[in-house]
Amino acid sequence: MAGKLTVYYGCMFAGKTSALIQHLSELNFKQSEFVVIKPAVDVRSGAATITTHDGKSHECLIYDQGFELGEFITPFTRLIAIDEAQFFDKVFLSDLKRFLGRGVHVVASGLDKDYLGRPFGLMPALIELAEEKHHLKAKCAQCGSDAEYTYRKTENKVLILIGQSQHYEPRCSSCYHQN
Ligand SMILES: [Zn+2]
Repeated sequence: MAGKLTVYYGCMFAGKTSALIQHLSELNFKQSEFVVIKPAVDVRSGAATITTHDGKSHECLIYDQGFELGEFITPFTRLIAIDEAQFFDKVFLSDLKRFLGRGVHVVASGLDKDYLGRPFGLMPALIELAEEKHHLKAKCAQCGSDAEYTYRKTENKVLILIGQSQHYEPRCSSCYHQN
């Protein structure tokens, strides 16, 4: 039977990584039964670990050029978890489909839109493919209603500007488009 793909998506500050961690916590798999993969570009947390709600710390694999998913999947792997999935490429997606076909479950979280409101990397494809999808919303920094856009407060035009509230804020559609 094919594995199940679950996707958590939305703007920044929508709680996507927390949702991913919650998902892992509820499954309560053994360490050997799942892998967690983060892109190298996500250097915010420094250490490549993810800590579930019951306090178990799990080492993350770092996705970078030349990453071979197959090297990390064993016959015991039941789930592949991906954080910041917008940064992964099409080769990775075809690998994921292969493992889904073999019955490995996948859970991914990521930004569906970049700060210019454009579809972000792999996310639209993952959302389309997902059996279970959760659109998470943040709270608009301007008016407090549901936010689904990430607004960049600085002039920097670099697409990948990792950072928190000094660079970005969540905004609803109408506040986002006012600027
Ligand atoms: Zn608003």
